[in-house]
Amino acid sequence: MNKKFLNKIIICHIFLLLSVSLAAVAMPKISVLATGGTIAGSGASSTGSAYKAAVSPVEKVIAAVPELSNIAKISGEQICNISSQDMKVEYWLKLAARINQLFRLGLADGVVITHGTDTMEETAYFLNLTVAYDKPVILTGSMRPGSALSADGAMNLYNAVAVAAAPNSINKGVMVVMNDRVYSARGVKKCDTINPAAFSDQENGPIGRVNYGKVSFNARPDKRHTYQSALKLGIFTASLPEVAIIYGYAGINSEIVEAICNTGIKGLVYAGVGNGNPSEEVLAVLAKASENGLTVVRASRVPGGPVTLDAEVDDTKYGFIVSDSLTPQKSRILLMLALQKNLAKPAIQQLFFDY
Ligand code: GLU
Repeated sequence: MNKKFLNKIIICHIFLLLSVSLAAVAMPKISVLATGGTIAGSGASSTGSAYKAAVSPVEKVIAAVPELSNIAKISGEQICNISSQDMKVEYWLKLAARINQLFRLGLADGVVITHGTDTMEETAYFLNLTVAYDKPVILTGSMRPGSALSADGAMNLYNAVAVAAAPNSINKGVMVVMNDRVYSARGVKKCDTINPAAFSDQENGPIGRVNYGKVSFNARPDKRHTYQSALKLGIFTASLPEVAIIYGYAGINSEIVEAICNTGIKGLVYAGVGNGNPSEEVLAVLAKASENGLTVVRASRVPGGPVTLDAEVDDTKYGFIVSDSLTPQKSRILLMLALQKNLAKPAIQQLFFDY
């Protein structure tokens, strides 16, 4: 081989190596924070419905999708390893603190949280109110464990990382990516117990699509979120005020409602019938509790539509707050965060309209 030709080959190789490493440097840094759920679950049979959630550690969840390294520089951390029915405030605070820290120190351009689907919408909304940065935070999970036929976790994780890495995901608040759809944290809800197309946003629909990692948005979330939030946590926040939810039904026993009001809770979300309506007897109990200092939010057990102020119930007279279009479970989160700020009732009501 002549010397000139050899030199050309060496130069070509150096050029190739340089461009490969430059591409790696340019790749977005995405932190995968694992919390458990079916995406980390496994079953004995590929066709049986029995399985155990939250068995695989984060390394295994990431290693199951080697294609992730083509679209981002991935790092993984285990926050907890639970089924999401066991999610609690302690883990929410840990997640929020870690995400804020990753962004503050410039250690991540985006975050993906793997999570059980049962309470995914609650964690998404909590973080939507408490992450103080406009960088993408995406929650994903799966409805089928990796051991099942047609498991959905690998594609969901790939798509979630693609959304977290996409430049046009910035400043859209926390999002949920499931089954090729992108949802905003405020409106998203689990609407099917077993189907892979389990999530929807009945008021607004999905805000985007992601198909084999190709991201497109069709809408912006219309409410405030993340870095604009008035509800940011202090670094010493270790717990939140206790808020309970009561579900309304025909013939409800108001003594049960009264007993719950007297347990020492600081707030109550009453998921009433229709436009958040309590029965006459329950109304009397709630009015008394409100007078004694309990903050009462009227929400609804109906899946669609807002709860409106001073409709059948005179909220102004009783000092009640209405949930607007927030579900009872998300109303509870907003109320817990508002109560730790010691806000007056009109200010809390405004939060329900704004966030
Ligand atoms: N109940 C479990 C959880 O929420 C499994 C459901 C799922 O992840 O799809 O973690």
